[in-house]
Parts: sequence; C-alpha cells; structure tokens
Amino acid sequence: MRLPQSASLLRFLHTLSSISRRPQVFQQLPSRNAALLQSSMPSIPFLGSLFGLSAPSSNMSSSSFPDQRSNDEWRAVLNKEQFRILREKGTEPAGTGQYDKHYPSHGVYACAGCSAPLYKSDHKFMSGCGWPAYFDSIPGAVKRHEDRSFGMARTEIVCANCGGHLGHVFKGEGFPTPTDERHCVNSVSLKFSPEDEQQQQQQQAAQAGESKV
Ligand SMILES: [Zn+2]
Repeated sequence: MRLPQSASLLRFLHTLSSISRRPQVFQQLPSRNAALLQSSMPSIPFLGSLFGLSAPSSNMSSSSFPDQRSNDEWRAVLNKEQFRILREKGTEPAGTGQYDKHYPSHGVYACAGCSAPLYKSDHKFMSGCGWPAYFDSIPGAVKRHEDRSFGMARTEIVCANCGGHLGHVFKGEGFPTPTDERHCVNSVSLKFSPEDEQQQQQQQAAQAGESKV
C-alpha cells in the first residue's frame, strides 16, 4: 500500500513542479518583450526627428536664432542648473529663485546664457506665483511659441537671441497691469544688472561733459 501511495505522490509532485515551471516560461515572455520595447524606445524620438515628426519648438530652437552655439559650447559657459533650464527647458522649484521677490527701482534682467537684455525692472510685478513675473519684455527680446508638453497647451517664451528657455506667458489672469499678461520666468534664466544701457550711456555722456568743462 505504501509504494503506490508514494508513487502517486511522486507523480503528483512532478505534475505540480511542471505546472509551476510553465508559468515561469510564460512570465519570461512578457518581460523579454518589455525589455525589447525599452531598448527600442530611445530610437523613437530619433526616428521622429528623421521623418520630420519632432515638435515645431525643437525645429525653431535649432535654426532661427542668431546665437547658434552647440550644446557642448553651452555646457562650457553655463552651470548644470542653467543648462537644464535654458537648454533643456527645465523649471526651477516655485519660490526658490533668486529674483522671485526681487523688486529693484531700476535695472535690466538679461539672458543668463547670452546676456541679451530681456526685461526692465519696471516690467516686473508682484504676482505671488513663485517665479519672477513681467507684464512685458524689451521689444523683440522674447520669442513665444506653442508648447504642448505635459498634456497642456501653453505659450513658451525663449530668448530671441539664443533660444534659451525662459518660462511661459499667461494671458487674461486679471492682474492690474497694462497688458494683463504674465511672463512667468525662471530666475536661473536671468542675470540682473542694476543699470540699463541707456542709463550707462547717459552717465558716460554726463561724465564726458564734466571732464570737458
Ligand atoms: Zn539668450
């Protein structure tokens, strides 16, 4: 009686082990497919750019700015955070920026990448949003285009000289400013200078006049 029992037990155990082995084989297939998918993913944006499927913003940033420095050249002059925000369209955490609560009576905020003047101190207003806010820019200094990343339709603003990412512009929020627009700009993208070019020229002219007298 013991032998048949142990034989059937052995068959039972064998059946169990073969059942438990099969799912392992099937489990391997999806993981292999996932690995294949993952390894092929980096090539998708590359193929997209080959066939002209990339977003208009990336086309714009590569060709339509006077300052055409390469990423390697930008890395040589920008720190990591500046590169992440200006060249890779990053965003600094709200309320952390150097110019968030910065309200000088005069001066100019220039591009931290190429030093092109972008905003004057009297464009800046208190929005409470956590980033420097301007209701307007120096004419022609800032370019805007549609940004559909993260499932949102927003208007991205970039430096018109180098294409460096500044932030986004929002309209119709009801702020009591002449434009009812808010240029929401990363502090990291900016470099403040307390005196604008016009003032410097006036001072130089005044000093030249004094020295003549
Ligand atoms: Zn710039």
